[in-house]
Amino acid sequence: MAKVRVAVNGYGTIGKRVADAVAKQPDLELVGVAKTRPNFEAERAVQKGYPLFVAGDGTAAEFEAAGLPVAGTVADLLGRADVVVDATPDKVGAENAKRYAAAGLRAVFQGGEKASVAEVSFSALGNYAAARGKRTVRVVSCNTTGIARAVAVLLPTWGAERWDVTLIRRAADPAESKKGPINGIVPSLHIPSHHGPDVQTIFPGLPIESVAVVVPTTLMHVHVNHVRLTRAPASAAELVDAFRSTPRFRVFAPWERADGTPQVMEYARGRGLGFDDFMENVLWQDGVTVDGKDAYFFQAIHQESVTVPENVDAIRAMFDLAPDARTSIATTDRALGLSRA
Ligand code: NAD
Repeated sequence: MAKVRVAVNGYGTIGKRVADAVAKQPDLELVGVAKTRPNFEAERAVQKGYPLFVAGDGTAAEFEAAGLPVAGTVADLLGRADVVVDATPDKVGAENAKRYAAAGLRAVFQGGEKASVAEVSFSALGNYAAARGKRTVRVVSCNTTGIARAVAVLLPTWGAERWDVTLIRRAADPAESKKGPINGIVPSLHIPSHHGPDVQTIFPGLPIESVAVVVPTTLMHVHVNHVRLTRAPASAAELVDAFRSTPRFRVFAPWERADGTPQVMEYARGRGLGFDDFMENVLWQDGVTVDGKDAYFFQAIHQESVTVPENVDAIRAMFDLAPDARTSIATTDRALGLSRA
């Protein structure tokens, strides 16, 4: 079967990672990436042999002056693709959606867009089947992806009477030097934060409440979860086993001494997935606690990479390239070198 041809429009934090992930898949072909301005990321695309196209208000002359050859405009790129992954900044995707629709092109959007940008919001473990055959899909944000994965583990076996999550959010990505705070803790005063309702786009009716605070770190988000389950687990070990046996989870044992996000990211650097990424939800075994029907656990989410495999699975679902979620996830993870593959 011919490979599905994938364009990536917006080659920043998410776009460059998705491009790499697509290029590694056995059933997908990366036909090019589009960027507005020349910079070190555009240079990297050229070095990797990804055809580079000019997007937005950029010009070919700017790229060529920087010694970066371009293959055409974003319109040319879209003409070569079966699907476009839009990884442009928040709200730009909604503008681009009209263009993709006019070109009759399928499109995957990111979590910075409203849910209404696409026919369905997506989490591979949460609702893979809902994206089957769809023309437009929105991969939910990093935080929503992390929560939705955890819901997908607990809900089918134990149910949830109520899910409370406090999000301790990183202030900025490591390369963002103009965001803050650099010394302070800033609560999001709107309760619930947008995350709970966003999880409900994957699990309609889930009784979830979320609150968020922003802290001065760039490494990862951390979620503090308290779930009142419908059925009491026998022990915390039962929940730990459930997380451990699910793809896209990495549970650190006490002996590993990965006490917090600094050690977790040091582990990621040594693992060498590229960009020091950590695409799984990270849990700490000793942080999983059960008291009757009440379950508590912490999880860390690497904001820059956790949605990357989800973009690949979204494409596979849209083109019905796999019989089910597990098969797609296994194919994606094997190609990416994730631990369970
Ligand atoms: P980014 O700013 O790092 O990258 C966006 C890229 O798009 C930049 O290279 C920019 O030059 C380019 N661009 C701007 N306007 C364009 C246009 N009109 N056409 C084509 N390219 C254009 O942003 P990001 O962090 O990669 O975020 C992209 C999307 O992913 C957003 O919806 C965001 O909410 C979502 N997201 C981000 C993170 C994260 O932690 N960074 C995590 C999950 C989801």
